[in-house]
Amino acid sequence: MSGTPTFDLLIVGGGINGAGIARDAAGRGLKVLLVEKDDLASHTSSASTKLIHGGLRYLEQLEFRLVRESLAERERLWRIAPHIVHPLDFVVQQSGSTRPAWLVRLGLLLYDHLGGRKRLPPTRTFDLATDPRGAGLKNRAGKAFAYADCFVDDSRLVILNAMDAAERGARIATRTELVHAERGTEMWQATLIGSQGQERVSARVLVNAAGPWVADLLRRLHLESRRHIRLVKGSHIVLPRLYAGAHAVLIQNPDRRVVFAIPFERDFTLVGTTDSFWEGEPGSPAIDDAEVAYLLDSVHRTFVRPVGRDDIVWTFSGIRPLFDDGSRSAARVTRDYSLDLDLQGAPVLSVFGGKLTTYRRLAEQVLHRLHPVFPRTGEPWTGSAPLPGGDLPERGPAELITRLQTEFSETSGALLDRLARTYGTRARQILSAGELGTAIAGDLTESEVRHLVEHEWARTAEDILFRRTKLGLHLPATAAPRLEEVLRHMNCGSTHAA
Ligand code: FAD
Repeated sequence: MSGTPTFDLLIVGGGINGAGIARDAAGRGLKVLLVEKDDLASHTSSASTKLIHGGLRYLEQLEFRLVRESLAERERLWRIAPHIVHPLDFVVQQSGSTRPAWLVRLGLLLYDHLGGRKRLPPTRTFDLATDPRGAGLKNRAGKAFAYADCFVDDSRLVILNAMDAAERGARIATRTELVHAERGTEMWQATLIGSQGQERVSARVLVNAAGPWVADLLRRLHLESRRHIRLVKGSHIVLPRLYAGAHAVLIQNPDRRVVFAIPFERDFTLVGTTDSFWEGEPGSPAIDDAEVAYLLDSVHRTFVRPVGRDDIVWTFSGIRPLFDDGSRSAARVTRDYSLDLDLQGAPVLSVFGGKLTTYRRLAEQVLHRLHPVFPRTGEPWTGSAPLPGGDLPERGPAELITRLQTEFSETSGALLDRLARTYGTRARQILSAGELGTAIAGDLTESEVRHLVEHEWARTAEDILFRRTKLGLHLPATAAPRLEEVLRHMNCGSTHAA
């Protein structure tokens, strides 16, 4: 169609899977358009437990393929995004455990050896009564294990993938919904509605990475799939720090589910998650009373520090779009992914399930499946190329912070530390932009906000306070209206604007 922008891939969904596919495809030379109806990472991909992990409990479900792939991804993602991914020790108590010690030991032995671990430490055993990691726990009897996984800023992982995709030529259209698409024999003709109004585009392949909306999108396109999705809600609570130390605690509940307590944003402990089937629209789930009670019970059973509902500083909930394997328990539905490629006309590839941890491998699999359609695309490349800001010096964030302190000696150490851990080497773009400008709230300056608007598609206070950063947890409630005011006055013409 003359005058209609034409793409190789039209990706629907700006969560981790859509953004990861966009990055991989753009880096292989494909012409990519990604559309996201809301903000990037505004749904499931910002509501996770934020672990890059093999998933110790999936071994019990004999999910060896998934665990092996996930374990191998830990060190890869740590290497390509060391500013937002970091190793984290998990403490597992033996006494009071719902599983026999031999079973946990066997699981950890497999965990140590399945995934080609090189830089992460192996499992260690220690005495809870004498080790500082026992402090704060109610039950300090006996031994405990410590094993390593990684923690990630989930929403920033999405944004960095989208940024890299854009820097490699992809067009990223946020707040743009795919409302309709007609399938031809060779091409898709799609109708998009965004802040600039309606637009028609054509694309050779449509990638359905709509997460919890994957089935809705298929219905909208009048397509059927042999695969189905199960929606499973999960919620977290954020409490003031429950214990000292940089480790997480794996809590084994009497129902055999596992809940994590994780150090979060310096001053807090993140506790989650719950698992319950979700039948409604996936739009905006919120924690319910039963979930709060369940998570607080887990905390009361484990930690000395008394906490109640009034101590909860933040909650968030997400809907897992899981590949339906027929399991009757929400906790046992597989976390593995499945791709459905439909070639009855212009191709459509739908993503069912998946984890944050496996998004990069999932994207590689998508490009592999599409190879017959695009035979001249390049080789896999995303496993070693740093994400934006991830090209840190040899000794990681600490060395970057030292260098920034020398280069920007006038700027406060606390701000340099935060910027380095949020933006990696891209912190220099904010710091070198001349004046940092007025502080809008706390140490959030105009220069940082402008960077987020121009390079990271931020449009609202929530985009900035709860997704691009977590400053919302540290600043007073008055910060949001002040920031909205600044955003209204700021020229919202982004360098990546759709
Ligand atoms: P989403 O992030 O939901 O993205 C899909 C996007 O598609 C949405 O933003 C939506 O707005 C957009 N969209 C839908 N329809 C349209 C349309 N018509 N037009 C335009 N846009 C559209 N994984 C881990 O690896 N580690 C963990 O610790 C972990 N913990 C989790 C804890 C919880 C409670 C939950 C819920 C999940 C957890 N996960 C974890 C899983 C992980 O978060 C998800 O697998 C992943 O975020 C799914 O990403 P996605 O891109 O498929 O979906």
